[in-house]
Amino acid sequence: PSALALSAVRKTYDGGVEALRGIDLTVEQGDFFALLGPNGAGKSTTIGVISALVNKSSGSVQVFGHDIDRQLNDAKRCIGLVPQEFNFNQFETVLQIVVNQAGYYGVPRAEAAVRAKTYLTQLDLWQKRDARARELSGGMKRRLMIARALMHRPKLLILDEPTAGVDIEIRRSMWEFLKQINEDGVTIILTTHYLEEAEMLCRNIGIIDKGLLVECTSMKSLLAKL
Ligand code: ADP
Ligand code: ADP
Repeated sequence: PSALALSAVRKTYDGGVEALRGIDLTVEQGDFFALLGPNGAGKSTTIGVISALVNKSSGSVQVFGHDIDRQLNDAKRCIGLVPQEFNFNQFETVLQIVVNQAGYYGVPRAEAAVRAKTYLTQLDLWQKRDARARELSGGMKRRLMIARALMHRPKLLILDEPTAGVDIEIRRSMWEFLKQINEDGVTIILTTHYLEEAEMLCRNIGIIDKGLLVECTSMKSLLAKL
């Protein structure tokens, strides 16, 4: 199956905002896909619908062939989500946050410890493992969000503006890490404002505007057109 298949997805929020007005989108396994678009276009809503944090109004979503209406747990297991807002407990330590996440997904403790060391080391957070989350810089918190999302070994990593507000040096090291994860076989979808970020990382790109996918193409052919 495809990593992700959206068909005629609509979302109207209470109050009447039509955030998504019929999105058809397929992302193949192994892809590194960017969802680009101006503020308010519907990017976060799309991610919310895929990860079932936002209830769609109509249409269907399949994650690695699992329909989110009928096989939500199977679909969720495939997904690692990095939302924009820091939603971990600020009073827990870095290590607690990632190990607990593994626990939610039933990963045995010994295995969780191995994964925690691996990802925290790769994301340059291992020295900070006993620090409370609230003591971390913004860039460190961002990386902690990524480490946490990987703890159950998702097949699809979804990141909403992962490098927003992160300085360029840290941004570059995050890009290198994401490239490596993708090369290791994880399908990645991210939203971004930075065309440069999409250019650096992504093979395919969707442009969303006013709740519609106005373009879906390879990065190469998009650049050829600009
Ligand atoms: P983007 O991520 O591209 O900036 P969003 O998906 O956040 O866009 O928003 C799409 C539209 O839906 C915007 O008009 C936004 O104001 C609206 N919207 C987003 N979240 C909500 C919500 N919880 N309730 C009502 N309207 C919302
Ligand atoms: P609850 O059901 O108690 O609200 P969740 O399972 O939704 O908790 O989320 C627990 C934590 O894991 C939250 O901080 C959330 O942001 C994060 N999370 C939720 N879904 C996923 C996912 N598919 N992959 C990674 N992290 C997730």
